[in-house]
Amino acid sequence: MEKYIYLDNNATTMVDPKVLESMLPFFKERYGNPSSMHSFGGLVGREVEKARMQVARLVGAEHDYEIVFTGSGTESDNMAVMGVLGYYRDRKHVITSRVEHPAILSLCKKLERDGYRITYIPVDWDGNLDVEMLKSSVDDDTAIVSIMYANNETGVVFPVEEIGAFLKQKGVPFHVDAVQAAGKIPIDVNKINCDLLSISGHKFHAPKGIGALYVRRGTRMRPILYGGHQERGRRPGTENVPGIVGMGAAAELALEHLPEYDTRVRKLRDRLEEGLLRGHKNAVLNGGRTNRVPNTTNVGFEFIEGEAILLYLDEKGIAASSGSACSSGSLEPSHVLRAMGVPFTSAHGSIRFSLSRYVTDGDVDYVLSVMPGIVQRLLEISPYWDSKKQEPLPINL
Ligand code: PLP
Repeated sequence: MEKYIYLDNNATTMVDPKVLESMLPFFKERYGNPSSMHSFGGLVGREVEKARMQVARLVGAEHDYEIVFTGSGTESDNMAVMGVLGYYRDRKHVITSRVEHPAILSLCKKLERDGYRITYIPVDWDGNLDVEMLKSSVDDDTAIVSIMYANNETGVVFPVEEIGAFLKQKGVPFHVDAVQAAGKIPIDVNKINCDLLSISGHKFHAPKGIGALYVRRGTRMRPILYGGHQERGRRPGTENVPGIVGMGAAAELALEHLPEYDTRVRKLRDRLEEGLLRGHKNAVLNGGRTNRVPNTTNVGFEFIEGEAILLYLDEKGIAASSGSACSSGSLEPSHVLRAMGVPFTSAHGSIRFSLSRYVTDGDVDYVLSVMPGIVQRLLEISPYWDSKKQEPLPINL
């Protein structure tokens, strides 16, 4: 395959070659079951424990056993919320935000059907959470608050430390979906004061199908799966050893590369963003500029379709993603952009570029060189654009 410029790292990332190397023995000669009594399995079990320590370090956990390996970020999110609700059976109120990932939002919709009361906290134009409303929504019936650390579409970072301090004082369990934060910004569960925190391997250069849930010592919850004693009975099922070992290696590398995200990757993102905003009359930024993970930018190109931009980008060997909920088969703008009040003229043309440490200066130059041609071509066929005057046509709603 020809070189592809991959700017869709919030969807998934390349497995780091060092991560792959660390995993290979566990597909081949080291295939023992970590729960076995014999040393052939026991030695594999030791590698699982090493990975647990590596992941614990990535999130700042005090004890290795506070890490539970799961099958995905989605499973970690479900385990956190369902697990806590399973313990506090008399509490029927859950607080979350309007811009969470479907791993939380779809679960909350199901909980509503089951009779739970869900408060969806709104965000403002810049994508920032209404923290005061969150605080005033907590009551005696609140079983759990689940809030993301960083938004997958805009990269906006929520003030989880402020929320955690408040909820600790109230004694309400706090889950943080840190799937889009891991590997991009430092995570410290003790600074956040959260009880539970989800991460997913494939977002930071480990393979797909491996996740982890940090569970603070003493957190009251029930398992959502029943079976053997793996993961101390909290997540039964024979362990995905290669995935776990890979996630451990990726966690260690992620910590090493954090400074690079804060410097080189951030600079690249900013250069791409500024270039796009300066180079196109119809470009607007979605999401506040200040508090974002360093790898993400979400730019709306007014009066044209994001899907069409993506197709042209794909032709040029560039992968990005759009702000439309294509997964639902509709071209509705995403729930995140809608919650932010982004007008339809730009929400439909919103593109998310998400970088990684593999992205180069040359990649950004190339994207900036092809975008004007793509945007101009689409503006010329847009029913909202006056090509002669190079300005929007008056819109009669
Ligand atoms: N939470 C957030 C914020 C995400 O961005 C994602 C994936 O995009 C998930 C959860 C789900 O993770 P996984 O793909 O590992 O199930």
